[in-house]
Amino acid sequence: QTRYAEHRKRLKSQKPPSSLKAAKIDVVCLTHGHLDHTWGLLPWLQTMALDRRTNPLLIIGPTSAETLAALIGGQPIPDTAPPAELARQMQSWHSLGATSQGLGYEVRWILGDVQSDSWVELNPDTGETSPLSVMPQPKGWKQVRLVPLSTEHSVPSCAWMFESKEKSGKFNRMKAAELRLTTEQQTELGQGRDVSLPDGTVLEASSFRGASIRPRRVVVSGDTAEQAPGIVALDGVDLLVHEATFLEDTQDHATEHLHSTATGAVRTALACGAKHLVLTHFSARIKDGSVPLAEANGIIDGAQLDITLAHDGDRVLLHDNGDVSHHTWTGNDWAA
Ligand SMILES: [Zn+2]
Repeated sequence: QTRYAEHRKRLKSQKPPSSLKAAKIDVVCLTHGHLDHTWGLLPWLQTMALDRRTNPLLIIGPTSAETLAALIGGQPIPDTAPPAELARQMQSWHSLGATSQGLGYEVRWILGDVQSDSWVELNPDTGETSPLSVMPQPKGWKQVRLVPLSTEHSVPSCAWMFESKEKSGKFNRMKAAELRLTTEQQTELGQGRDVSLPDGTVLEASSFRGASIRPRRVVVSGDTAEQAPGIVALDGVDLLVHEATFLEDTQDHATEHLHSTATGAVRTALACGAKHLVLTHFSARIKDGSVPLAEANGIIDGAQLDITLAHDGDRVLLHDNGDVSHHTWTGNDWAA
């Protein structure tokens, strides 16, 4: 609780102050069921209840095809599912009061098999389990969509991408004014339709628009072996937040446990055209972040890739022009 309140104060002290706050979070994207990635959720949900949250919340995560089939068929979770199966955890959270009724705000619980793109909603208030035709998006999201990406870990897992819509370029009002176009003509051009002038000249709508802004892509890997299929299939990623559990001297551990090294994270970043890579999830054996950072920077070989290290509570901003800035709390201020 203290950590949570402290962080809120720090965000407010940002210049200009950040309006980010937990009450505004629309979705919790779980990457897999290992407890170091999930166990804070229940207390956080309770904290939101104490804060009198009213906004609806979507909670979404990966499961296996077998568990999904069992849930849809009204069967118990198969014995073959790992202890860290998210369906087990969701059911136990529900029994501990994490329901819309118990919390006082609407929570939707979604599980899916990412590879087959099959999704199911658990409704702990009614006890129903309903198959969904598509993965739901967070309520009110129009400019950004959430996309699960398949990864490789020892339990069902996925990465998450936040992708903005492509934006059309600015309408060139100066050019329209110089040509003394009527409001109607400008509207036509603005809506993408060519306009013919009385003298026979055709004005092409495309010549009145600046270059469109391509979709921005932020990917968070969760735990995975390097070069996860869903991530390397992408192109033009602006920001990749990737796990780097191990160093190169323990690459065999990384391979065996389906984790990544810092250099593996770089190989993934290069494969998906990432411009900025944030390394996170270091093994407790790594005492000094400069070591994975040096290993990572050692193999980029002239590629346009910035690499930074994540610390708890950092802010990583993706700006409209595609630039990324990474801010760390220094004790009394934010440093970029
Ligand atoms: Zn894990």
